[in-house]
Amino acid sequence: MSFLSDIKAVLTPKEIVFREVIEESEGIYSFLFDACEPIDWKAGQHALFVIKHTKIKKGSRAFSIASSPLENIIMISMKIDKQPSDYKKALLEIKSGTKMVLRGPIGGFYIDKAKPTCFIAGGIGITPFRAMIKDIALREKDFKGKINLLYINSR
Ligand SMILES: Cc1cc2nc3c(=O)[nH]c(=O)nc-3n(C[C@H](O)[C@H](O)[C@H](O)COP(=O)(O)OP(=O)(O)OC[C@H]3O[C@@H](n4cnc5c(N)ncnc54)[C@H](O)[C@@H]3O)c2cc1C
Repeated sequence: MSFLSDIKAVLTPKEIVFREVIEESEGIYSFLFDACEPIDWKAGQHALFVIKHTKIKKGSRAFSIASSPLENIIMISMKIDKQPSDYKKALLEIKSGTKMVLRGPIGGFYIDKAKPTCFIAGGIGITPFRAMIKDIALREKDFKGKINLLYINSR
C-alpha cells in the first residue's frame, strides 16, 4: 500500500454497522462491526473510527483492526478504564445496528507473506499482532514456519 492509496482511503469514508461488544477481560473490550460495503485491508493495518450517533468533541480515533479480513468482521479492541474519554463513553453506549464511519484502512504495518517472525507487544499493543497471527492461521493452513510472540502486560 502506498502513501497515495492511504490518502485516498482516508478521504473515502465507509459506513460500518455495530454488531456487538465483548468484554475480553476486566476493562478490555472488543467492538465488532459489519461493513456496509466491501472493505479491503491487510492484517495489521489501522483505520480512523468516527462516531456519528452522538455529538462529542474529537469523535475520531485511530485503532488497529484486530481481526483478519478472512474473519469477515471488523474488530477493534481497547482498554476502557473507570473514567473513559467521551469517545470511549460513546462507544460503550452504542447499540446494535448503529452506524459509524471508517476512514482507511491504512498503514504499512503488515507482513506480506508468513515467514519465521518474532512479534513483540505490550498491553493493548497486541491488536495488530492478533490480526496478523489469525490471518496466517486462516490463510496459510500448511504454514510450517514459526511465529514467536513476546508479550507483556501489567496484569
Ligand atoms: C496507528 C494507531 C493504532 C492504534 N491502535 C489502537 C488499538 O488497537 N487499541 C487502542 O486501545 N488504542 C489504539 N490506538 C490509540 C487510540 O487512537 C487512542 O489514542 C487511545 O485508545 C486513547 O483514546 P482515549 O479516547 O481513551 O483517550 P484520549 O482522549 O485520546 O486521550 C489520550 C490520553 O491522554 C489523556 N488526556 C486526554 N486529555 C487530557 C487532558 N486534558 N489532560 C491530561 N490528560 C489528558 C487521557 O487520559 C488518555 O490517557 C492507536 C493509535 C494509533 C495512532
